[in-house]
Amino acid sequence: MRAVVASRNKHKIEQVARVLVGLDLVPLDEVAPDLELDEPHDSFEANALAKARVACQATGLPAIADDSGLEVDALGGAPGVFSARYAGSRAGDDDNNRKLVAALAGVAEEDRTCRYRCAAVLVMPDGTEHTAAGVCEGRVVLEGRGDLGFGYDPHVIPIGDTRTMGEIPLDEKLAFSHRGMAFRQLGQFLRRDAFILDPRDSTA
Ligand code: IMP
Repeated sequence: MRAVVASRNKHKIEQVARVLVGLDLVPLDEVAPDLELDEPHDSFEANALAKARVACQATGLPAIADDSGLEVDALGGAPGVFSARYAGSRAGDDDNNRKLVAALAGVAEEDRTCRYRCAAVLVMPDGTEHTAAGVCEGRVVLEGRGDLGFGYDPHVIPIGDTRTMGEIPLDEKLAFSHRGMAFRQLGQFLRRDAFILDPRDSTA
């Protein structure tokens, strides 16, 4: 099945492609380069559905989207759905990480608990919708390490590890990460409906 990935984040697109191996995934920029993807809602699932619905409607293709972010307990769950724009609407990863480190500077390490959340959705042209969710618990470190990821990865150590998400190779990370978990669950819907036929499908 051919499906558009309603994202412009090349890291996310690569991660989705690694999990949903049997799908013919088309990046949004190839089929709808000017399409605006808004995230106006206060939940990851609602934002992911908004992006997938708009991409499905614009392209006529089944659309896959994720909305994700980091929740930090000491910050009352921030940045949460605002993770991409934590330091402002034009902020990049470095700006967001600087703001995160400044906000947690006075917080003891054991109190810097956090989790990544991911909502993964599939919207079909006939209006059928599937949703899935993943979570990855961890803690924030003030000294960033590693360049294998994106976003907040240099500052997040998943539970049970000593490496940051930025130091963990992608295939290893997808085995436990919020996005790996959510898209494996979505893959189960796809297999059930026989949309993924490739035996190499890593969700098996
Ligand atoms: P959005 O889902 O496009 O709204 O962006 C989510 C934002 O959350 C990203 O820009 C990152 O800052 C952060 N984020 C979500 N998932 C990850 C991840 O797997 N690693 C690092 N940062 C992430």
